[in-house]
Amino acid sequence: MISEEEARRKIFEMVRPLPARRSSILQALDRFAAEDYFSRLPLPNFDNSAMDGYAVVASSCKKGARLRIIGEQPAGIDQRLHISRGEAVRIFTGAPMPDGADAIVMQEDVTRNGAEITVNVDVDPGDFVRRLGCDLAEGQKILAKGARIPAAKIALLASQGFTDVSIGGEVNAAIISTGDELVRPGEKIAPGQIYESNSVLLNGLLQRCDATVISEEYCPDKREFLIDAINGGIKNHILIITGGVSVGQHDLVKEALHHLGAQIDIWRVAVKPGKPFLFGCIGACLVFGLPGNPVSAFVTFLQFVRPAILKLMGAANLDLPEVPARLTVDVTNDGDRPHYVRGKLDHGRFTPVGRQESHALFGLSQSNALLRIAVGESLKAGEIVDAQIWD
Ligand code: AMP
Ligand code: MG
Repeated sequence: MISEEEARRKIFEMVRPLPARRSSILQALDRFAAEDYFSRLPLPNFDNSAMDGYAVVASSCKKGARLRIIGEQPAGIDQRLHISRGEAVRIFTGAPMPDGADAIVMQEDVTRNGAEITVNVDVDPGDFVRRLGCDLAEGQKILAKGARIPAAKIALLASQGFTDVSIGGEVNAAIISTGDELVRPGEKIAPGQIYESNSVLLNGLLQRCDATVISEEYCPDKREFLIDAINGGIKNHILIITGGVSVGQHDLVKEALHHLGAQIDIWRVAVKPGKPFLFGCIGACLVFGLPGNPVSAFVTFLQFVRPAILKLMGAANLDLPEVPARLTVDVTNDGDRPHYVRGKLDHGRFTPVGRQESHALFGLSQSNALLRIAVGESLKAGEIVDAQIWD
């Protein structure tokens, strides 16, 4: 049995980011940038009005001043208007500032009289002017290699005239659920059987990582069936097998993998839940064997499979997001493995929920965060802890 750190190190050693690909900026949502991007234009890229109103020369614009309107500048092509003291240009939000103007008076702050306005406020230079480059300078880094691309970054890329970007590769995944007891939801169940739930759990988690699920298979605990199913699954970047990786005599996954010439790098990790976790590869396919117990499958997916997928996709940050939270009860780990406690994170408070056992799917379903308790660690109610969140 190896430590989690050792397991992660071995996994990362095996995982190479997939080749980058070009994508339209829209399709790049939530993917990872494969290179650094820099601004081509400052933002704003010209001085412009922040309001509908009048462009003026501030020094000729004390309260009560009367100004002559000499033209109109809507948003759009710069009409290259020029004003002098005592003059104003009717202007609209986003329109380029006329030459000579250094401030905008809001239309609400003037009284218009034909081709003239009376200014009802004092005006200072710079009022309601959006200066060239005040938000972003040309040549500034706008997206770092390995960073996720959320909607606002897509908008920023568009504002710079980019139509497409280079992003990390797409990860294809196969799932195999093993167990003689498993029955597909919707089918009739006999005594001793259970409805299979890990494949939908993993499918959901894979979707959250933006991996593409290519196939999902059920497989009884029979060596030949397992070999067939695994053979089908290894055409993908990753294969996730649940169940059958423990030490029982019906746990045949390891044997089937060996038969197919797999290199098995990890079997059994000091983590609770999830000890029987297996990792290896067959050719270029990374193979993850997760325990059949749903909570174990969930925790090992988040701790070991998710970071591997992120690395394949070219992500820089492979960790689960963590948020500080105040623990509401005492928790202790008297066991010999780090324990991922399932809990509810609510308004900055973390409370363990449900039965903390590896089969307890209802308990898991009530939780939205994990708290890792190291071996021998004793945390007191009121302490601030780092809760891991996955959604
Ligand atoms: P195993 O890892 O195969 O020893 O299975 C451990 C426990 O998880 C057993 O109680 C199984 O019935 C249960 N289990 C295994 N696979 C699944 C699955 N796909 N969905 C729900 N429960 C499962
Ligand atoms: Mg089994």
